[in-house]
Amino acid sequence: MHFTTSDLLQQFNTAWLPGNLQAAMLRLDRIHPLVQGNKWFKLQRNLAAAGSRPVVTFGGPWSNHLHATAAACKLLDKPVTGIVRGEAPAVPSQTLRDAAGLGMQIIHVPREVYDALKKGDIARAPLSLLPLLESACIIPEGGGNEAGADGCEDILDWGDFCPFTHILCAVGTGTTLAGLINGAGKRGLTPEIWGVSALKGAFSLEDEIRGLLKGGPGKWSVLHDYHEGGFAKVTPELITEMNDFFRQTGIPTDRVYTGKMVLAFRKLTAAGKFPPGSKILMIHTGGLQGNASLPQGSLHF
Ligand SMILES: *Cc1c(COP(=O)(O)O)cnc(C)c1O
Repeated sequence: MHFTTSDLLQQFNTAWLPGNLQAAMLRLDRIHPLVQGNKWFKLQRNLAAAGSRPVVTFGGPWSNHLHATAAACKLLDKPVTGIVRGEAPAVPSQTLRDAAGLGMQIIHVPREVYDALKKGDIARAPLSLLPLLESACIIPEGGGNEAGADGCEDILDWGDFCPFTHILCAVGTGTTLAGLINGAGKRGLTPEIWGVSALKGAFSLEDEIRGLLKGGPGKWSVLHDYHEGGFAKVTPELITEMNDFFRQTGIPTDRVYTGKMVLAFRKLTAAGKFPPGSKILMIHTGGLQGNASLPQGSLHF
């Protein structure tokens, strides 16, 4: 191997990886037990900008972002409210129970209200929420803003990434991918950077990413064919891949993002998309807490 590995940079091999390729995973799932993966990088500048204001943010019942924000605010001793899309279910998700346990105030709002608030239309808020919304630091859903992308540039300080010819990363809002492209540019790295979209038909992603770019390697793209039926959709093939990958590498993945990235990597490899000699870096963006949504026993890790 021609790159140095660290605690976080793990070289791996699988039965299906051709001998003329090398691959490694940047284990951002291991940076902290609760504030995992890319979410910490997206939050760091947003939370610094909050100062002493309370924090308000948005997410769905299984949101990795809500979970990470709750944990980060607990560590930083900041009051935080999570606004959740849709009426409260009889049994809250494990994610929301964890977030509440970490001190996050959880407020469920109807979908229409959520969608309006998310766009900054505070007038649609329930009256009881208005004073909070007017005084709070509001972090968008998924931490998807410029401060989030800026924070993700720091991901590339966690190792020597010069040797890599390709970087693969899962994509939701595209904020992390934009940060990686900008960060690579600033560090003089020139890999191809490929984002594996977790969403079906999200063809506006490229424009949104372009809106966050400040230069960087020109060679990036979003791959739209590996969503396995749509956002958070789980197929038997995905579960098999996640178990198989863990058995071969010891690396756990999540069902929404990183599992689909690994499946995409295997399919891209089989299709000969990487020239011989390529060194591929995959970014493990965390999200493992969301696996609690799967039926017990699905995963062998
Ligand atoms: C949120 C999340 C992503 C997507 O990040 P974006 O910056 O929104 O594209 C990828 N992987 C995991 C595990 C996530 O939780």
